[in-house]
Amino acid sequence: MAPRGTEHVALVHALGRVLAGDVASPHDLPPFDRSLVDGWAVRAADTETASQQTPARLRHAGEIRMGAPARIAVGPGEAVRIPTGGMLPQGADAVAMQEHVQTGEGEVAVERAVKAGENVVAAGADVRTGRVVFARGRRLRAPDLGILAGIGRPRVQVTLQPRVAILSTGDEVLAAEDPLQPGTVRDMNGAALAGAVLASGGIPEILGVVRDEMAPVEAALRRAVAGYDMVLVSGGSSVGERDIVTDAIARLGPPGIIVHGIAVRPGKPTVLAAVGPVPVIGLPGNPVSALVIFDLFARPVLERLLGMDPASRGWHRVRARLAFRLPSAGPREDHRRVKLEMRADGLWAAPLPAGSQILTSLTEADGIVVVPLGGDGFAAGAEVEVQLL
Ligand code: AMP
Ligand code: MG
Repeated sequence: MAPRGTEHVALVHALGRVLAGDVASPHDLPPFDRSLVDGWAVRAADTETASQQTPARLRHAGEIRMGAPARIAVGPGEAVRIPTGGMLPQGADAVAMQEHVQTGEGEVAVERAVKAGENVVAAGADVRTGRVVFARGRRLRAPDLGILAGIGRPRVQVTLQPRVAILSTGDEVLAAEDPLQPGTVRDMNGAALAGAVLASGGIPEILGVVRDEMAPVEAALRRAVAGYDMVLVSGGSSVGERDIVTDAIARLGPPGIIVHGIAVRPGKPTVLAAVGPVPVIGLPGNPVSALVIFDLFARPVLERLLGMDPASRGWHRVRARLAFRLPSAGPREDHRRVKLEMRADGLWAAPLPAGSQILTSLTEADGIVVVPLGGDGFAAGAEVEVQLL
């Protein structure tokens, strides 16, 4: 699984995109020694004994203009006016803050000693010439865009976003805009999965709801496989009476079904498959299960198609104590939604309802605690790892 290609995008469109190649800086950032404050560029040695009683009296030798090269040099016994961000002139190695300087006729009195390098950001302190600032596979965040602009890269080469088809199945499932009929529910998975795909860096397309019959399910899946980089189909994957999605996936072509059924709650009836290069993931119909399984299996696949280094997702885990006990779900690994609460004695995680039909258990959740299969689960007060949503 690899990206289908690359494209160049402007930085304003680069947030969340994945770099197609390493980016090295052609110059130092900042490009020159800069003052951190408004004040006077000086030679630190000249101020060594300066105090309020015995200020260092220096000659006013000129002024640095903002955004202009420093043409003046600071000689011994001299000081040059400099603004915050101004270019440090030759000869100077520190800046005395204007708050600690009195000015007189052609003279400045520095009332506090400054050390070499004080109030100065050295050239290259942020980024050194030639350094790889971001490696291939990095998913770009907002500050990254600032660095890229700073090193003169207004456009970057990023991987193409995978186009992800989203199909919902079920005789009882209506489109989100349809009026409710007795015994029906609206398609919640289409919208929720589209959001999850977008948030993960893909381009979702909701292909709609298909009824539980082999011919339409198979036809919809074939169209999806032919036209998209990845296919998500929800519902109909359990071994129930009319659940034919698994059989339909099996007919699509090699390599076909790789996994059917996993020891995870919620989400047992999950299908992992591929048709040629196109990953096809059969998600459970329950919206909670569909989203939990998306995070567990679909997102990592999408990240591979994006060419993304998972490390650039950042840290999304915290440790918290359980507000009450979480027993093991026996032979299945349990993914429990929890709400976090900061109390005086630290972070606590309160488990939300376990039922996979309760989507508000996910909308209200801050994170997920994975209870290992087998064993006793976690006691109340136990410290657990919470994966933030
Ligand atoms: P299934 O996996 O088809 O057996 O569906 C499991 C449960 O999820 C059933 O209660 C379905 O009605 C419900 N369900 C399936 N698909 C959706 C959907 N797209 N939106 C909301 N609920 C769904
Ligand atoms: Mg169904």
